[in-house]
Amino acid sequence: MPGFTYEQSMLTCDGVPLATLAEAVGTPCYVYSGATIRSRVADLAAAFAPVPHQLHYALKANSTLAIVRLLRSLGCEADANSGGEIEVALRAGFIPDQIVFTGVGKSRDELERAVTLGLKAINAESAGELERIAAIAEAQSTRARVALRVNPDIDARSHPHISTGLKRNKFGVALETAVPLLTAMAERPGLEIVGIHAHIGSQITTIEPLARAARALAEIARALVGAGLPLQHIDVGGGVGIDYEGTGAVVDVAEYARAVIEATRPLGLSLILEPGRSLVGPAGVLVATVVDVKEHPGGRRFVVLDAGMTELLRPALYGAYHRIVPLAAGGRPPVLCDVVGPVCESSDTFGVDRELPDPRVGDRVAVLDTGAYGAVMASTYNRRPIPPEVLVDEGAWRVVRRRMSVDDMLMAEA
Ligand SMILES: *Cc1c(COP(=O)(O)O)cnc(C)c1O
Repeated sequence: MPGFTYEQSMLTCDGVPLATLAEAVGTPCYVYSGATIRSRVADLAAAFAPVPHQLHYALKANSTLAIVRLLRSLGCEADANSGGEIEVALRAGFIPDQIVFTGVGKSRDELERAVTLGLKAINAESAGELERIAAIAEAQSTRARVALRVNPDIDARSHPHISTGLKRNKFGVALETAVPLLTAMAERPGLEIVGIHAHIGSQITTIEPLARAARALAEIARALVGAGLPLQHIDVGGGVGIDYEGTGAVVDVAEYARAVIEATRPLGLSLILEPGRSLVGPAGVLVATVVDVKEHPGGRRFVVLDAGMTELLRPALYGAYHRIVPLAAGGRPPVLCDVVGPVCESSDTFGVDRELPDPRVGDRVAVLDTGAYGAVMASTYNRRPIPPEVLVDEGAWRVVRRRMSVDDMLMAEA
C-alpha cells in the first residue's frame, strides 16, 4: 500500500511498519514515502499535460539530497530560493538551465553566481534588482535570463505569515509597473526578459486566488508581448495546499490545472510551476516517542515527546495543525491530551486536546504531513541534534541523512 496506512493495526509507510524503522534508526526521525511523491508528481504532470509546461520543484519545502534527486528522476526541474539551494540543486544533478532562482533579497554574491552559471531564469523582485543583474551581466559580457515577479494584490486566504501576494507583502513589483519597467529594461544588453512570475502564498486551499493570479499574469504577458517583448514563459509559482486536517477537502489538481490553463493558454507561452508542499508534504511523517506523561491536578494531561519545535517548527511558528496518530492502533481507549515537545518554550506544543489511546511512556506516535517545511526548518536549539531521515522507495528503505552527532554539531566551531 502506498503512503501511510494501518496494516494489522500497525502504521506503515509504503508497506514498511514505522515501528521497524523507529527501532532501526531511533526517534525522533523523519520518514518519507517515495510512492506518495511519485504519485503526486504524476498527478500534477498529467493535469498540465495538455499544455507545454515544466514543474520546478521548490527545494525550500524539502531539500534533502535524496528527495531532490528523486524529484529530478521524475522529470522535475528546480526552483531555488537562495544561493545555498542553487548549490544543492547542482549537487543533486540539475544543470543551470533547469534552475529558476527566486528570493526577495538576493545578495550580490548570489546574483553574481546566478549570472555566471546562466540559470534558466532569475525571478527578479524589483527594479533595483533588475538593474543589479543587468550590471553584473554586462560586466561579464553576458546576458542574464530574467523573469519579473509581480505582486498581483490577491488575497491567498492562507495564513498571513505565508501569504505573499498582497500589496502590503514584501514580494514582487506592483502589477501596473511591470510593463513600463520591463519595456525599459529590455533595452539593457545584459538582460534577456524571458518571463513573468507570481507566487501569492503557500497552503492555498481554494482555487479562486490561484486562478485570479494566473489571469493577472496572462493579462500582463499579453501586454508585454503586445509591446514587442517576446516572452517565453509564464511562471505561476507554487502554493497549492494540502489536507492537514484529513477531511478530504483540498484543491483538486485537475481543477487547478484547468483554471490555470484556461487563463494562460491563448498566449501560447509555456508554463512554469513551482510546487513544493503539494508534492512532498503528505509524503512525510515525523516519528516520535513519548518520554513523559503527566497530569496537572484538575487540569491537563500532557504527553511529552522526544520531538518538538526543533524538529517541526510549523505549530509554534504559525499555529499550524498536524494530525498526530499512534504507530500501534487499537488497544487502549482514547483520552484527551496536549501533545508537547521537550523544548523549554511554551509554544513547543504540537496539539491541544488531541485524542490518543491512553498514552504511556515508550509509546510511539507519528506527526503526519511533515514532508514539507519539516526537516528543512529543523534547528539545533537546545543543542538538539538534527534527526535522521529515512526514504522508503521501490520496496526498500534507507537512511538518506544520518542523525547529527555532537561532532557534526560542533564541526564549524573553533
Ligand atoms: C515557497 C515558494 C514556492 C513553493 O510553495 P509551496 O506552497 O510549497 O508550493 C514556490 N515558489 C516560490 C517563489 C516560493 O517562495
